[in-house]
Amino acid sequence: MSNQGVLVVLSGFSGAGKGTIMKELIKRYPYFLSVSATTRKPREGEINGKDYFFHSREKFETMIEQGELIEWAEYVGNYYGTPKQAVEKQLAEGKDVLLEIEMQGGMLVKEQFPNALLLFVTPPSFTDLEQRLIGRGTESKDEINRRIQRASEEIAYMSSYDYLIINDELEQAVQDVHQIIQSEHMRVSYQTDMIHNFEQEANNNK
Ligand code: 5GP
Repeated sequence: MSNQGVLVVLSGFSGAGKGTIMKELIKRYPYFLSVSATTRKPREGEINGKDYFFHSREKFETMIEQGELIEWAEYVGNYYGTPKQAVEKQLAEGKDVLLEIEMQGGMLVKEQFPNALLLFVTPPSFTDLEQRLIGRGTESKDEINRRIQRASEEIAYMSSYDYLIINDELEQAVQDVHQIIQSEHMRVSYQTDMIHNFEQEANNNK
């Protein structure tokens, strides 16, 4: 456990600003942002292998069968999932790994990685959320309505998370997430090397 990175799950309502927070975090700090697989069509400007690995449903289902995903979920008609290999490699190398995933996936990650840190990003109110989704202008009216409907169902997950990040001010939210991750490193369970050193030094002095 000692030199392992922290596995961080960042979830939140669509339009809560998770993506922007993530981008700022990886710009500034050496976090590893996991690239998910999805069957959703790329949005304008999205790059395969950077924003997502865009796959057909057939390919995605093969990945599920072959156990290549840590978790996967269906979200408004498309599959989304976290590739296992890259995440496990980075954690083993001591890197903190960020997953930006929806809540069903978040719960599955927690089952497999009980030490995962679960953060839930939300605007200050539900009304704010609706306005952000409409203002973003990247989805059709139909899609926006489905995402709002989904968000109202997702409220039930909030209390299963470890921390709520209120994304009112982007800068504050970025700092909040970074500080929580850094504090996590101070947990005794991540400090077994340090404890071991104390024991060894004490023994040497005997
Ligand atoms: P979008 O279509 O807006 O990029 O993503 C839709 C939702 O899918 C977001 O809530 C996003 O966090 C979630 N998502 C993205 N990648 C994954 C993943 O690998 N697993 C799960 N469970 N959800 C994901």
